[in-house]
Amino acid sequence: MDCIFAPRVVSVEQNKFLCPKFLGLPEIARFGVPDLPPLLDVEINVHEQYQKTCRDLKRLAASFEKRPRIIEEALRSAELAQENYEAALRLGKTPQDVLSGTEDKHRKESVRVAVLGHAYNLNDKFISMNLLSKLREFGAEVITSEMLKAEEIEQGAAITEKEIYWTFGKELMGSAFHLMEEGKINGIILVAAFGCGPDSLVCEMVERIYRRGKKAPVLMLTIDEHTGEAGVVTRLEAFIDMLRWREAV
Ligand code: SF4
Repeated sequence: MDCIFAPRVVSVEQNKFLCPKFLGLPEIARFGVPDLPPLLDVEINVHEQYQKTCRDLKRLAASFEKRPRIIEEALRSAELAQENYEAALRLGKTPQDVLSGTEDKHRKESVRVAVLGHAYNLNDKFISMNLLSKLREFGAEVITSEMLKAEEIEQGAAITEKEIYWTFGKELMGSAFHLMEEGKINGIILVAAFGCGPDSLVCEMVERIYRRGKKAPVLMLTIDEHTGEAGVVTRLEAFIDMLRWREAV
């Protein structure tokens, strides 16, 4: 490996920020892992320095390719690829479906389950223990934040009195409340990382509001490196069985 791309992602939208661990990622990697290849460290800060971020990305690209026209074209292609990818997700595909080119055979199942958590946890097969695929195997239609439109998430997040200024927290909360209002899900699974400060607050609020309104059953899954797969499978199966039973009565 010649180098590792480890950007410092401060913000990806106006007035919202990522958690401090993203801000410190290059340093955590640089000082925490011995003998790393060179890190390509660029700051992504849409909130304060959008133009500077664009310039920095071009400067980084210039260390591989000197011709500005090729760099511009590469940036445009990257933007287009991202737009196409996001459009595919909105059609109800998971990142795994899109990247592997497979079709979801479990669309329009009898139970619709919202699975909300940070994308880098949910879509990492190792960390989430392949949660999304397991739910589909149990016969559930899975809905994630990535399948919703930005306006739907914003509208859901507007329920809270105070604005959530963490991008991932806002996404989770906005999706949960939009789906709650829409009333088209049978249950919701909240996936939180053990030790995550924002999750401990956001997931707790979502759980309380769902329980108070008796809108849909909530399963709270807190995962870390000690979480056993067998325990997760048992809880998922029991949850889906319970949702099916509720639908049948
Ligand atoms: S899981 Fe929580 S603590 Fe970890 S990077 Fe994401 S927001 Fe930060």
